[in-house]
Amino acid sequence: MVEEFLKIQNVSKSYAGVQALDKVSMSISKGEIHCLVGENGSGKSTLIKIITGVVKPDEGEIIINGKTFKHLRPIDSISEGIQVIYQDLSLFPNLSVAENISLNQLIEEKRRLINWKDIKYIAEKELSNIKREIDLDERVENLSIANKQLVAICRALIQNAKLIIMDEPTTAITKKEIDYLLSVILDLKKRGISTLFVSHKLSEVLQI
Ligand code: ADP
Ligand code: MG
Repeated sequence: MVEEFLKIQNVSKSYAGVQALDKVSMSISKGEIHCLVGENGSGKSTLIKIITGVVKPDEGEIIINGKTFKHLRPIDSISEGIQVIYQDLSLFPNLSVAENISLNQLIEEKRRLINWKDIKYIAEKELSNIKREIDLDERVENLSIANKQLVAICRALIQNAKLIIMDEPTTAITKKEIDYLLSVILDLKKRGISTLFVSHKLSEVLQI
């Protein structure tokens, strides 16, 4: 039997007269790559905000790891292993690859002093887990978009991601970079990590 990680049931949301979502149901299994496709304004980002606890649905249920959440909060979503990578990637351009990958983890541990060896060690371990190499000392602003995405993925993995949601990750990237991203997502799948890939371009969704 396939293990269901996330289940959305009959979720609706309207904003002052605009029905963004109308009884949406879907489920994502462990290790599944799930694509969510729809034209601009069709409610994709709203659904993601509901899954991450940022927006409250008007009705419906969100079930993560078998737990039903009536009022999902961002902290619940994160502790259940849901991580979102937004289109802008939310990286610190002037910091190094190692710092971008490791800082969240160190902040979470409430460290007051930064041990540079730890920063590099954490980042190196995560990159080797996904069998990819980037110069840990390089400033993120100097990386290609594909490598920036890889840094964002590593940062999500460090926070124990079980489902990585990518909201329109490919708007600014080339075919070759989509292939690279796909190879990374396929490796995550082998580790049982799910990906929700959000796009308004049907062609790339079919490729994935
Ligand atoms: P998508 O990500 O598929 O482009 P969205 O979820 O961003 O779609 O938007 C769905 C609909 O909800 C659109 O009509 C949008 O204008 C509306 N909408 C989204 N967020 C808000 C908001 N905070 N206030 C009012 N309307 C919104
Ligand atoms: Mg959107």
